[in-house]
Amino acid sequence: MPKAELHLHIEGTLEPELALDLARRNGVQLPWNGLDELRAQYRFENLQSFLNLYYQLMAVLRTADDFRDLMLAYLERAHADGVRHAEIFFDPQVHLDNGLDFDMVMAGLLEGLAIGEERYGISGGLILSIVRDKPVESARSMIDLAEHRAGDLIGVGLDSAEVGYPPSLFEECFAHARAMGLHCVAHAGEEGPADYVTQALDLLHAERIDHGIHAIDSPEVTARLAREGIALTVCPLSNRRLQVVDDLRELPIRRFLDQGVAVTVNSDDPAYFGGYIGANYQALADIGFGADELAGFAENSIKHSFAAEERKRQLLGQLAEWRNAVTKGIA
Ligand SMILES: [Zn+2]
Repeated sequence: MPKAELHLHIEGTLEPELALDLARRNGVQLPWNGLDELRAQYRFENLQSFLNLYYQLMAVLRTADDFRDLMLAYLERAHADGVRHAEIFFDPQVHLDNGLDFDMVMAGLLEGLAIGEERYGISGGLILSIVRDKPVESARSMIDLAEHRAGDLIGVGLDSAEVGYPPSLFEECFAHARAMGLHCVAHAGEEGPADYVTQALDLLHAERIDHGIHAIDSPEVTARLAREGIALTVCPLSNRRLQVVDDLRELPIRRFLDQGVAVTVNSDDPAYFGGYIGANYQALADIGFGADELAGFAENSIKHSFAAEERKRQLLGQLAEWRNAVTKGIA
């Protein structure tokens, strides 16, 4: 099924095999002996326990080729899952802290995207993501550093540990990014309260909310998302693996749909959470979402992407064709 992926951290696609390969290639010492010992680290109690491993493994990414290879490995999997457009987060602050050059990281990721577009026909681009539990000053200097590359970016985002790091801290950073012509999105309401969603809308002018599931705790916030046409980029397998919910049936997806909120389905950090975007759609099918509802998520993902209008029309046409073919197949 043709679809767009709108919530994907490129560093979260680092499979343990590739991490070990890159560690060898770059002479980076990891504290685990071999694949089994590394895999044993993938049991998470919450967002923080995942983030600890996630940031530790990022140290293996050292060169433009590493970032290109990481991007290509993701695009190959995304293509297999029907992704035609991808808007991809990356965390420059972590790479800068690891001693890497901002333009080198960009060069590798953009090379991967260009090869992927040619090879798989996937359009899309990069969203600069602010790591919210690092000092605000670090976010500010990263945005300054990115300014001369604004033309190579589609947006700015806000990720990492949520509780205690409200969107209000980053009002100035987002204002700067907006002045650079970047689209604005923010993680809010993953573990944090509905009020963080309100802050992301009022103070950061977020055009989409990443996760956003705690918006359901406030009827006012939920109604506002519907009224203003703000989509949520929901990541079911991520929410289960990080124990935001114990069971996918607890996710308020259907309640959002009933109240007119646009939901999209995404994979977040698929190498860590047990599945790429196709597995996330499948997980919802397994708990009773029908083919039409799944196609609705795909349609939302295209409509709420930052692709050019012409590209959106093309992708919506491909989705409509796919739906027709499936209907005929069933008949
Ligand atoms: Zn995320």
